[in-house]
Amino acid sequence: MRITVAGSGYVGLVTGACLADSGNHVLCLDIDEDKIAALKRGESPIYEPGLADLLQDNIRGGRLTFSTELAPAVSHGQVIFLAIGTPPGPDGAADLSGIFSAAERMAGLISEPKIVVNKSTVPVGTGGRLEQIIRAQCPHQVHVVSNPEFLKEGSAVDDFLRPDRVVIGAEDDRAAEIVRELYLPFVRNRSPIIVMRRAAAELTKYAANCFLATRISFINEIANICEKHGIDVNQVREGIGTDRRIGFQFLYPGVGYGGSCFPKDVQAMSHVAADAGVPKDLFEVVHQVNDRQRRLLFEKIKLYFGGRLRGKRFAMWGVTFKPKTDDVREAPALTIISHLLDSGAEVRASDPQGLENLRGEFGDRISYFPNAYQALEGCDALLVVTEWNEYRSPDFERLRAALKAPLIFDGRNLYEPATMARHGFVYISVGRPTVGPG
Ligand code: NAD
Repeated sequence: MRITVAGSGYVGLVTGACLADSGNHVLCLDIDEDKIAALKRGESPIYEPGLADLLQDNIRGGRLTFSTELAPAVSHGQVIFLAIGTPPGPDGAADLSGIFSAAERMAGLISEPKIVVNKSTVPVGTGGRLEQIIRAQCPHQVHVVSNPEFLKEGSAVDDFLRPDRVVIGAEDDRAAEIVRELYLPFVRNRSPIIVMRRAAAELTKYAANCFLATRISFINEIANICEKHGIDVNQVREGIGTDRRIGFQFLYPGVGYGGSCFPKDVQAMSHVAADAGVPKDLFEVVHQVNDRQRRLLFEKIKLYFGGRLRGKRFAMWGVTFKPKTDDVREAPALTIISHLLDSGAEVRASDPQGLENLRGEFGDRISYFPNAYQALEGCDALLVVTEWNEYRSPDFERLRAALKAPLIFDGRNLYEPATMARHGFVYISVGRPTVGPG
C-alpha cells in the first residue's frame, strides 16, 4: 500500500520505517528541512535502537522516501498517518493547532478517497473535528481513524514490530479493516487488534499513560513515607508487587516521570475530565506529586550541604528522561540542573546519547562529558539521574578517587546500600535509608 506519514519525529519515523519494512511504499513528510535533509542522506535525526538500520534498509529497498513538499505527499498516500506533536498549551490542555493546520492544508489537496489515521495523542472528539475540517474543503470521501501509538522511546522499533496490542478507533468499518490489514504483519504473535469507536480509542491512549503515571506517583509517595520511617521501599515494593493484581511494572521510585508524553498527557487528561464535567482531582494530584518528586533530589542535595551550594561542583550521570534515548524533553535532569545553577553550583553532565540535546537547553552554562569518569573530576558529589545500563556496575574505586568526597545522590536506586557502605560512600537514594557517615 502507498502510505504517507506526516510528522517524522519519534512516532512518525518509527511508524514509517516499520510500515516500509513490511512492504509498503512510505513517504515521510515533515516541515523541518534539516530533519528531512538528514533523512535523505540516510541519517537518523534521532537515536532509537534499531532505527538507523531499519531506515537504511528500506531506503535502499526503495520503499521509504522523505519530503517537505505537501502536495506530492498528499497525493502519494492512500492512507495518510498523522504523527504531529500535540504539546501542552499555556493552560495544560493539548495544543491541537499543529494537527488541525496540517489537516486544513492537506484537505484542499486531496483528489481521491483516502483514509487519514491519527496517531497523535489527542482529546476525545478530535478525530471528529479533523474529519469536519477535511470534509469542509474536500469533495472526496475521507474517513478519519484513530490509531493511538503505545511505543516507548528506547524500545520504539521493537514495540512497533511486536506490539502488546493495536487499537483502532473508527466510525467506518471499511476504513477500520484497511488499517487493521496494515497491522497484521506485526501481530503474528497473536497480539490483539482491538477495534472500537473513535472516541474510545482517543481516550484509551490518555487512560493508559495516566494509569502508568499514577503508578509512578503512587510508589514515589510510598518511598517518601519510607524515608521518614527508615524503611527500605524495595521491601514494600516486593511485598505489593508479588500480588498478581499489582505486579512490579512502573513501580520504581525515582526522580519523577518525564519525557514528552506523561507530563503533558496527565495535564491534558485534567482538561479532558473537566470538559466532560467530571472531577479532575486524581489527575491533578498525580501531576503535583510528580512535580514535587522532580525537585526532591535537589532538596536532598541542598539539605546535605546546609543550603550552601554556591561554588559546589556536581557530576551528573544520565540526563535523558529514560535510558536508550537521546530525548531530554521534560527530563527530570533539566529541573535538577536548573535548581543547581540557580543556587550557584557547577554541573558536569555525562550521558551516552543525550548531551547534544542537553546542550540545546543549557548551552555553555554547564559542561559536557561523553566519558562518565571524566565528569567526576574534582566534584563534590555524583548525581545519578538516568538508569543507563553502563552506570549499574561502575568502578567504585575509580569513582571515589575522582570525586572530592565519596558522596553519591542516586535518583534511580541503582546501587545496593550495603555495597556503597563497604566502598566507603555516603549514599543517598530514594525511599531507602542513607548509608555512610552522613
Ligand atoms: P516529535 O516532536 O518527535 O515529532 C513531531 C514531528 O512533526 C516533528 O518532526 C515536526 O517537525 C513535525 N511536524 C509539525 N508540524 C507538521 C506538519 N504540519 N506537517 C508535517 N510535519 C509536521 O513528536 P513525537 O514524540 O513523535 O510525538 C508525536 C505525537 O505522538 C504526539 O501527539 C505524542 O503525544 C504522540 N506519542 C508520542 C510517543 C513518544 O514516545 N514520543 C509515544 C506515543 C504517542
